[in-house]
Amino acid sequence: MSFIVAIDGPAGCGKGTITKILASKLNLVNIDTGAMYRCVALEALRKNVLESDIEGLKKLLESIDIKIAEKDNKPQYILNEEDVTEAIRSPEVDSVVAKYAAVKIVRDKLTPMQRKIGNEKDSIMEGRDIGTVVFPNADVKIFLDCSLEERARRRYKQNLEKGINESYEEVLDGMIKRHKLETEREIAPFVKAEDSILVDSTHMSIEEVVNEIEKIIRRKRND
Ligand code: C5P
Repeated sequence: MSFIVAIDGPAGCGKGTITKILASKLNLVNIDTGAMYRCVALEALRKNVLESDIEGLKKLLESIDIKIAEKDNKPQYILNEEDVTEAIRSPEVDSVVAKYAAVKIVRDKLTPMQRKIGNEKDSIMEGRDIGTVVFPNADVKIFLDCSLEERARRRYKQNLEKGINESYEEVLDGMIKRHKLETEREIAPFVKAEDSILVDSTHMSIEEVVNEIEKIIRRKRND
C-alpha cells in the first residue's frame, strides 16, 4: 500500500508551493488535483461546452486524456498530447473551473484517476476533497487554511509576477465566488475532514508551514 498525504485547502493558501517543496524533500509524488479540473475546464472552454451541457461534457470526458509528467523538476500537465501547464492557470480558466468541478460526471471521471495515481506511488495529493472523498483513509490529512484577504493578496502578487493583469478587487471577488461554489456544491463539497490537522498559514512563512507539515509527516512515517 502506498503512503498518502492529503492536503486540502482553498485557492491561494499556498498549497501548491508547499506541496511541491514537501514532495521533493520527502520523496513523494506531487499530485495537484486542481490542475486536473483545470484541464477539463480548459478543454470545455475551447470546445464551447457549457457546464450545463451534460451530453456535451460526457463526450468531452470520453475523449480527454490528462497526463502528469515532469520537466525541469516541475510538474507538467499534458492535455491530449499538448503541454497546458501555463494555459490552465489563465484568469479565464480560474473564473469557470469551479462550475465544471461541481458537475457529477466530471468528478466521477477524475476521482478514480486520482485514486489510481495515488495507489501506484507514495504521494502528496492536494485539492479540496482529498481527505474527505478521494483518500479518506490517507496516512496524513492536512487542512491548510488562510484568511480570504491574505489569499487574495498572495494570488494578486503571483499574477503580477506572471504578467497577468487583474486588480486586487477582481482577484478577491473571483475567490469569493469560487469559494461559494466549492463549499455549497452537492457533490464533494469543500469542507474540513473531521480528522484532518488544521494548519493556518495566514501569519506563517512558507518555510514555517513546510517545517510544521514535514514534522507531522515524518512522525507518521517513523522517519
Ligand atoms: O487548487 P486549484 O485552485 O487549482 O483548483 C481549481 C479548481 O478545481 C477549484 O476551484 C475547485 O473548484 C476544483 N477542485 C475540486 N476538487 C479538488 C481540486 C480542485 O473541486 N480536489
